Amino acid sequence: MTENLIQRTMSAYTYPLLIKNLLNAPVVDDPQQQIVYRDQMRFSYAEFRQRVCRLANALSAIGVRAGDTVAVMDWDSHRYLECFYAIPMLGAVLHTVNIRLSTEQILFTIDHAEDDYILVNEEFLPILEQIKGRIDTVKGYVLLQDGRQACETSLTFEGEYEALLDAADDHFDFADFDENTRATTFYTTGTTGLPKGVYFSHRQLVLHTLGTLAALGTPAEQGRLHQRDVYMPITPMFHVHAWGVPYVATSLGIKQVYPGKYAPDSLLQLLAKEKVTFSHCVPTILQMLMSHPSFAETDLSNWKVLIGGAALPQAMCRAALRKGIDIFSGYGMSETCPILTIAHVAEDNLSEDEQVDIRCKTGRPVPLVDLRIADENLEEISRDGESVGEIVVRTPWLTQGYLKDQRNSETLWRGGYLHTGDVAHRNKQNYIKITDRIKDVIKVGGEWLSSLELEDLLCTHPAVAETAVISLPDAKWGEKPMALVVVKEDVETDEKELLAYIRGFVDKGIISKQVVLLKIRFVEAIDKTSVGKVNKRALREKFQQS
Ligand code: AMP
Repeated sequence: MTENLIQRTMSAYTYPLLIKNLLNAPVVDDPQQQIVYRDQMRFSYAEFRQRVCRLANALSAIGVRAGDTVAVMDWDSHRYLECFYAIPMLGAVLHTVNIRLSTEQILFTIDHAEDDYILVNEEFLPILEQIKGRIDTVKGYVLLQDGRQACETSLTFEGEYEALLDAADDHFDFADFDENTRATTFYTTGTTGLPKGVYFSHRQLVLHTLGTLAALGTPAEQGRLHQRDVYMPITPMFHVHAWGVPYVATSLGIKQVYPGKYAPDSLLQLLAKEKVTFSHCVPTILQMLMSHPSFAETDLSNWKVLIGGAALPQAMCRAALRKGIDIFSGYGMSETCPILTIAHVAEDNLSEDEQVDIRCKTGRPVPLVDLRIADENLEEISRDGESVGEIVVRTPWLTQGYLKDQRNSETLWRGGYLHTGDVAHRNKQNYIKITDRIKDVIKVGGEWLSSLELEDLLCTHPAVAETAVISLPDAKWGEKPMALVVVKEDVETDEKELLAYIRGFVDKGIISKQVVLLKIRFVEAIDKTSVGKVNKRALREKFQQS
């Protein structure tokens, strides 16, 4: 090589996969495209870019530095979208706080993530008021409000979000850094025990965005996300980056609508008024919309909706199709960024039954996902549409472990594959279908409830000798908890007393509200497996119809 050529090669730019680079195309291609927040805000992508810069300047001015963790407690908003970009683009870590956890769990996540700053919607101030003396690491708070009314609180703020943005410069030079820098973190209660932190790097989020974009953008028609779509998330932005779709929508440069707190009437109004064509949600939310009186008269014939977080029930799928909704399933988990599979209908001219069957499957792996349905030795099981095994995965966008939790990280990744705890089969056409779950957790309306935690609490009652909490199918909530209870000899109790006892833990913020759906069933003994473990699968089968 000549000296000149070597030099030219040396100066080649090693393009890092950073979140800031997802902003290049859309802002330049169609700067006037809109971002909408309820009926409160409407601005262009060009302004969005400026607002991201303003936010970066405002956060830097209050002391946020690369490596800090900045938490957000908000409903789905334009502010959250701005935080999705500005915070990681500063080299800081965005902690999306799950505001549906109990107060004690929220405190645990703030401490565990070592949050340096919290951006908090005024609606969640009562939570912070309750725990403020016990928060160790937080150096400052920013107030998020829809208006600028005075609010009563004993917390002091660095400022109100919009006021800080107004005062900040609209230009910021975002530096390059290592694409493996951590960008986001959040907590899942989808495993047993305390909430567990998962985390994702810039590189992972960029590749997840591109993989999802490729999967959603390539079908001929059904379930295709394209440049003329209007996007509105209906899965919370604190939960796995709203499935990462805000990054996808922003990269596509399409109109986006952020609905704030979910209420069926305002969601339906926004769907109609803003002509939304693409959303995603858990089945419980869609059920809530379908049961609302104004659902019948809302035109949703241009609406595509990706259902995930739980299996799409066939009856819901059928009802949605008859309404003209293009409904289909996707699958993933907090640990997987999340998207792993999507159930697109690849063939034309299928009957309604055939369509429903495919749309309700768990889906086919999206590009770059190495998904195995494996036996105990991690060997792939036959793709015969019947034989079941655990779903294990490798992709570039899986959490590398649980935050500060070596033991559970090793269990999650045993044998070099991420273990999902979901049981499924796969057919010759590569569609997988989840049939069962190995993990001992219950999903009520899209939110996890730890059966072990509930068992621990029940066992502290003086009358309880032994208990096992299982999930039962439920038309409204997807699943609901049932506790099988063996009562100690010569002691008396009843369902009312035990439910009141558990409700006491909800009031103290120790366990989440989903527990109020608990049913109690008194039994003589609890079924065990051959090695003496509680046999939850057998119990689920036995009490299915309860
Ligand atoms: P989360 O971490 O809260 O997002 O929950 C992920 C879990 O939800 C998965 O491990 C599955 O157990 C369940 N899940 C997600 N999507 C589906 C689906 N399409 N069908 C069945 N279960 C699902």
